[in-house]
Amino acid sequence: MKNSVSQARPLPSISLEDVGGIGEEMKEEILQTLSTLKEPERATKMGIKPPKGILLYGPPGTGKTLLAQAIAHELNAAFFSASGSAFNELFVGVGASRVRSLFQAARKQSPAVIFIDEVDALAGRRKAHGGEEAEKTLTELLVQLDGGHSNDGILFIAATNRKDMLDEAFLRPGRIDFTFQVPLPDTKGRREIIDIHIKGKALSDDVQVSLDELAESTSGFSGAELQSLFETASRHAVRNGQDELTKADLDYALDRTILGSTSRSLQDL
Ligand code: ATP
Repeated sequence: MKNSVSQARPLPSISLEDVGGIGEEMKEEILQTLSTLKEPERATKMGIKPPKGILLYGPPGTGKTLLAQAIAHELNAAFFSASGSAFNELFVGVGASRVRSLFQAARKQSPAVIFIDEVDALAGRRKAHGGEEAEKTLTELLVQLDGGHSNDGILFIAATNRKDMLDEAFLRPGRIDFTFQVPLPDTKGRREIIDIHIKGKALSDDVQVSLDELAESTSGFSGAELQSLFETASRHAVRNGQDELTKADLDYALDRTILGSTSRSLQDL
């Protein structure tokens, strides 16, 4: 377990081009933020402190993990990732010691990105969070974030679906310097994500002309759901012995996905 939170993953080959639907403005803002990390001396001369922490928040499957990987790639940094729940331990001091080992391991491999998904499990509001152990773990995270220098080559990225649950002390500038919302994509965004996921796939002509329509008929879909839609469609095509994806495969996948989410929401009733 200790190793699973303190070992770098191979540098992701994901770039910002692979993240669709977040808009050019946000990409530009991210690049500006990263430029101060890439050139810390120039930033210091301009009186700017490179950021220590970035928060990404938004619904599940909108590309927060993907974006964190793209940022690591952009910085040519080692990528350490863990889920916030991996730090929840009943045993005394284990959560805090995992936080320490994670930061230590990352500092050894600087430049590095530390990515914590579901950070609300680690940095939830102290009162609601409950438990002395959880509080100690969060305190250790704050100590680690405060302990680093802004130009020590470590960027902390946290992601959550529940920004409202986060402890205010965690969100303070100097710990979290930038917050980006990653919303569900609109029609244009879904069209961009579709383009990303059809790259390299053999498509029949009837698919090519129906992609705008697909973007329109998938309102409420996340990037992860669009990716899964193409996977289902491709599996259907392979099973039928086809060499290319047809509109019929996409219609099949769309029906399955919509039926799947309807039965899920019926179960919730
Ligand atoms: P969670 O909140 O559930 O952890 P997430 O926001 O981190 O989800 P990802 O894990 O990044 O979402 O998305 C899962 C997969 O869905 C990605 O690997 C990618 O294939 C696809 N995907 C999601 N969002 C996008 C996007 N904006 N552009 C392109 N692909 C996307």
